[in-house]
Amino acid sequence: MENFELRGGVMHAEDVPLPEIAQAVGTPAYIYSSAAMERQARLFREALAPVGDPLIAYAVKANPNAAVLATLARAGLGADVVSGGELRRAIAAGIPAGKIVFSGVGKTREEMQFACDSDIFQFNLESEPEAEMLSEVAVAAGCQARVAFRINPAIDAGTHAKISTGKSENKFGIAEARAPAAYARAASLPGLEIQGIAIHIGSQLTDLSPLELAYAKIGSLIARLREAGHPISVADLGGGLGIAYDPDQPPPPTPADYGAMVTRVTRGWNVRLVFEPGRLLVGNAGILLTRVLRVKEGAGGPEATPFVIVDAGMNDLMRPTLYDAWHELRAVEPKGGHAIANVVGPVCETGDTFAMARRMSQVDEGDLLAFMTSGAYAATMASTYNSRPLAPEVMVNGNRFAVVRDRQSIEALIGADLMPPWLQDKSTEQS
Ligand SMILES: *Cc1c(COP(=O)(O)O)cnc(C)c1O
Repeated sequence: MENFELRGGVMHAEDVPLPEIAQAVGTPAYIYSSAAMERQARLFREALAPVGDPLIAYAVKANPNAAVLATLARAGLGADVVSGGELRRAIAAGIPAGKIVFSGVGKTREEMQFACDSDIFQFNLESEPEAEMLSEVAVAAGCQARVAFRINPAIDAGTHAKISTGKSENKFGIAEARAPAAYARAASLPGLEIQGIAIHIGSQLTDLSPLELAYAKIGSLIARLREAGHPISVADLGGGLGIAYDPDQPPPPTPADYGAMVTRVTRGWNVRLVFEPGRLLVGNAGILLTRVLRVKEGAGGPEATPFVIVDAGMNDLMRPTLYDAWHELRAVEPKGGHAIANVVGPVCETGDTFAMARRMSQVDEGDLLAFMTSGAYAATMASTYNSRPLAPEVMVNGNRFAVVRDRQSIEALIGADLMPPWLQDKSTEQS
């Protein structure tokens, strides 16, 4: 979180004081540091330099804002997309189709056709019926689809159940034992060109050993598939590397640790490697800026833990509700004192709770707070629940900042609903 530091007692995003941004765009607001994203992209690339010239395909779903994509495109990254919408966003932001990988269990015909016509780098197929549909689409559209199968290695990545993707009961990929048959089937289908193999076992991984185990399985599968005559020239090792949310927890493996492991495990594979980092690149490059609306006494009077009610809700930042995620909360202008508080949003759900009995900076009504590590799986999961307009997103670059998504207006939010004809006709109104 190097790019969000106190200077003269005030938290800055790079060189911009956060109160200045709050003044300009209001709260709640997401603030991103472009320097932080660029640094993470560089660190990851440097860590993987020993494996040659990998394709680093940013997982767009972590943060699909066009300015984020354009920043990473300029850093030379490709994209991992999981929908036609993400594919269009990535292309619109300047990521060449030749650097785009398409993952996901539910690709539609329309999405497949658009991706095939765009000549993307690779389709990561998650089932045999998907291969059959893609073949039909490619033949009809007169395009060739380069494909890999995503393997489900039946490995528990040791992360939260909702972000584990490589266990046998998870919906993703095909079983290792099924791989030879799936590749044989795909090889027989017109319009498909077998190119690679792929894996992605989960997100926010803080231990490299499940990854290493999964990669070793991929290594032996590559050998088996080649023996069967399949030309495997690409291995997509997915994303999932975790980041530090809680500074008091042991730090997760660094990109350098990961790079060293990958270099060791993939020695002799003789493929081009693809990586799909999401959270690692943007998670710590963003914060959610919020203001304290009021402090409410807890049940039990002045001695009870008070509620700090902030103007960001679970609709703005869903991770705590969805994954029991822990976000550090820092005062933008700390006053020195500390207090224990329950930090909650204004949404009418008990789940709209960000922190219970949290020791944090003393804050009062009107103070600004920052939810740290809010660059990934944050703004993109926001909803308008409780008719709360989507928060704006701001990108900082040195001493400059720009709104990269406007705050949704309440008029736009309400105006999106359409009245059916039978409710428009005033004459049928009952008196
Ligand atoms: C979400 C996802 C990623 C990115 O995961 P991170 O934990 O953000 O690195 C990569 N690949 C696939 C297929 C995904 O679904």
